[in-house]
Amino acid sequence: MERDEMPCDALFVGAGPANLAGAIHLMNLIEAHNAAIAAGDKTGDPIDEPMVVVLEKGSAVGQHQLSGAVLDPRALDELIPDWRERDDVPVERFVQREELAFLTPDSAVTAPWIPPELDNHGKPIISLGRFCAWLGEIAEEKGVNVFAGFTGHDLLWDGDTCVGVRTGDKGIGKDGEPKDQFEPGMDLQCPVTILGEGPRGHLTRRLIQRRNLDADSEPMIYYIGVKEVLELPEGSVEDGWVVHTLGYPLDERTFGGTFAYSMEGDKACIGLLVGLNAADPQMDAHHLLQLLKMHPYIREKLGDGKVVKYGAKAVTIGGWGSVPQLYADGAMIVGDSASIFNPLRIKGIHLSMKSGMLAAEAAFEAMVRGDASADVLRQYQEAVDSSWIREDMQPGQNMHANFKKHTISGLVQTAVQYAFGPGPLKRFDQDHTYMEQSAAHTPAPWARQEIPYDGTYLIDKLTDVYNSGTQHEEQQPAHLKIIDTEICATTCLEEFGNPCTKFCPAQVYNMRENEASGRLEMEVDFANCVHCKTCDIRDPYQIITWMPPEAGDGPEYDLM
Ligand code: SF4
Repeated sequence: MERDEMPCDALFVGAGPANLAGAIHLMNLIEAHNAAIAAGDKTGDPIDEPMVVVLEKGSAVGQHQLSGAVLDPRALDELIPDWRERDDVPVERFVQREELAFLTPDSAVTAPWIPPELDNHGKPIISLGRFCAWLGEIAEEKGVNVFAGFTGHDLLWDGDTCVGVRTGDKGIGKDGEPKDQFEPGMDLQCPVTILGEGPRGHLTRRLIQRRNLDADSEPMIYYIGVKEVLELPEGSVEDGWVVHTLGYPLDERTFGGTFAYSMEGDKACIGLLVGLNAADPQMDAHHLLQLLKMHPYIREKLGDGKVVKYGAKAVTIGGWGSVPQLYADGAMIVGDSASIFNPLRIKGIHLSMKSGMLAAEAAFEAMVRGDASADVLRQYQEAVDSSWIREDMQPGQNMHANFKKHTISGLVQTAVQYAFGPGPLKRFDQDHTYMEQSAAHTPAPWARQEIPYDGTYLIDKLTDVYNSGTQHEEQQPAHLKIIDTEICATTCLEEFGNPCTKFCPAQVYNMRENEASGRLEMEVDFANCVHCKTCDIRDPYQIITWMPPEAGDGPEYDLM
């Protein structure tokens, strides 16, 4: 098949905060380099008309971004020092009042003080979708080519050197055959590719596996985060309040927490994070979020609200121990894709941005030298190791392992480590290995409680899928591949009760009766998918693989 080829100088895959910060920083470095040569302050050749590309699978930059989020502005201060003076910066509010509470099923105990690691006073509350859209505009103003609506389908190789990315074909029918409007993907040939696909990036996994980049690191492990935006009565949203909770509706063996923030105008958001290593085979983050909203402490704050937006996304929480080797010949990994996230502070955007900027410095060096081999790109790893990324992340390196047995002992261990240092790295296994079989698991008393859905505040899963704005061209092959659906109908049904029908926050997986055989069989409603990657991570048999669907498909998050 004939494919268009496009050479470029630097290729960023994924328009998240890491890659957008990286692309902007790279253009700044090139501009300063050219100016220094023009002024006679530096020898060498200018880099004329650099072809710097950012690929984004969403229909527009920001549409697939979802986060809390209270931003630590440290990296933003470095990248755009005058951001506070700009009138286009998309800050929802600045944090003015914070609460931290421990919830039991019917009461709340609020902490008398906020630990320094969670203190957000004065920091900006953002919608990550809007924030990335803003960074994308700045990148384009600087000359970056932002190609939204293009998936990175595969890496291009020359031996073991990554030499670019093939974008996804468009117009393939359900049967795998090209339709009339078929457009083959193009080959973006590039000496240096920076992968910032977010958590569980499929190209990142291929690079890591092919170049064995995780030989010396712990497995990457994850939360699933689910989030809703609510509209409240006019004038009722307190300016700059932030709430974090622990405890209910998670049981004492399940790692996670919740958040609620005020947003611009009359909006507020609420979200719940739960470890994908949860023992409960019927763990359902969307159900847990509705239970949380029924709690009197939350209902008092948000109970008059109407849900207007919903989304879900995996979050990398392994921390420093899970960071793999960050470079290979021709490629680097940044942000969530590299597990760059601080689970202790529940923050990663600033770290992602900084990692993108440090990768940009290595990419710039490669452009100047005309050499993007691992020997040159190694400087990125060295820069991360000696930067404030390490200082920020290392104290929380055992956070996840501390909570393996019980919430209270996890809190105590984490407090001790915070005071005296993290100690040696504790080991952990992949998330799916911790799921208990149905017969061996005793759920929390409230875990299977029915929700009295009301269509405004308490929302069933399919209505929330509508609120996510997700859509997919139905006439395409399913982008979720189950290797063997016979396992779903037999072993998985018996052992775990088909956990994917619960852990998927978009009700993609459904066991339905086959009229001919009378038995329950798996049906995959892939058009509901919100691209959270939970199935790829948590499936106990590891037989589900998430692949990008046709470019531009998926959620429309904008506010999230
Ligand atoms: Fe998430 Fe998988 Fe469900 Fe899609 S199918 S929403 S990736 S769990």
